[in-house]
Amino acid sequence: MLPFVVIVGRPNVGKSTLFNRLLRQNKAMVHDRPGVTRDSLYGRVQGRTRDYTLVDTGGLVLEQGAQLEEEIYEQVREAMHSADLILFMVDGSAGVTALDEQLAAMLRQSRRPVRLVVNKVDGEERAALVEGDFYSLGFDMNMVSAAHGYNMPVLQEAIESSL
Ligand code: GDP
Ligand code: MG
Repeated sequence: MLPFVVIVGRPNVGKSTLFNRLLRQNKAMVHDRPGVTRDSLYGRVQGRTRDYTLVDTGGLVLEQGAQLEEEIYEQVREAMHSADLILFMVDGSAGVTALDEQLAAMLRQSRRPVRLVVNKVDGEERAALVEGDFYSLGFDMNMVSAAHGYNMPVLQEAIESSL
C-alpha cells in the first residue's frame, strides 16, 4: 500500500489548490467559499522518487460556525490515525488564527510526522515577512504558493523525503 499524505487545515487556506497542483489535474473543487469540498478526495501522486496517496480532507458545508469547527477537528483526528505524513496548511496572508493554534495543539500531540505548509506566499520577499509568525507553531515548514507554484519543488522534495 502506498503511504498516505493527508492535507488538513481550516477552510479556504488552499488545501484543494495544493491537492490539484500535486496531482497536476483538477480533481478537487476549488472555491472561494470556505468548506465547499464535501468529502475527502484521494489521488495517487507520482513523485520524482516516491509515489503516495494524497488526501484532501475538504470540509462539510454546514450552516453553523461551531459545527464547522467540530467537523475540522474530526478531520484532523482522522488524519492523525491514517496519515504517514500530515500536511498542516495555513494561510500566510492571514497570519496565525485561533483555529490554527488549536489544530496545531492537536497535531503536536499526534505521533505522526507533521509538516507546516504556509500557503499564499508568492515569493522570497513575502516569505521573509511572514516566516516569523509561523515559527511559534513549532513544526518544520515550507512556504509556498499552491496557486502560483512558488516553492513547490522544494515542498515536493520535502514530502518525498519524509516518506
Ligand atoms: P480549501 O478550502 O482549503 O480547499 O481552499 P481552496 O483550495 O478552495 O482555496 C481557497 C481560495 O484560496 C481560492 O480562492 C484559491 O484560489 C485561493 N488560493 C489558493 N492558493 C493560493 C495562493 O497560493 N495564493 C493566493 N493568493 N490564493 C490562493
Ligand atoms: Mg477544499
